[in-house]
Amino acid sequence: MIDFNDYQERAITTKIYSDEIGVPYVVLGIIGEVGEFIEKMKEVEDEFEKDLLTKEIGDVYWYLAGFFSEIEKNMGDHIQFTKTLLAVDDAIEIIMIAPAQLAELTKKFLRDEYPNQMSAERFEKIVKLIQQLHDAMYFLCSEYQVNLEDVLEANIAKLQSRKDRGTLGGDGDTR
Ligand SMILES: [Mg+2]
Repeated sequence: MIDFNDYQERAITTKIYSDEIGVPYVVLGIIGEVGEFIEKMKEVEDEFEKDLLTKEIGDVYWYLAGFFSEIEKNMGDHIQFTKTLLAVDDAIEIIMIAPAQLAELTKKFLRDEYPNQMSAERFEKIVKLIQQLHDAMYFLCSEYQVNLEDVLEANIAKLQSRKDRGTLGGDGDTR
């Protein structure tokens, strides 16, 4: 199984946004990329389209890892790979609702706590939500015969190579 702590550590080295906008940026990223994933899901009929779908999966997980970095937590300490059996419709419902719920919890975090640490209670709610989102994504990947771990590895390799070639763009912090 891929180690989410290791994945997060490698993913964040390709970060190109500035620290001040980190938390809202990654949450908008999650919402946007899950939306793109849902859009592509409706269209998958051949290998080319399946490729486009897997790119969006990589994008979603990049922002999930980015989220944990922005709130200074380790994704692998909190999010587990579990084989969750879901009905496809239920999995789709989860991925449609969870990003909105994450936005709501993050809004309250920014309003009431930021730039201080997130309260343990709020963090617990967020972890539950992201675990649900991950379970549903992981389940949908298997429905499309997509190996999630391969996708994550490939995505990191792609970003790393872009970074090495100086084509990631932006003038943000690329620690
Ligand atoms: Mg995308």
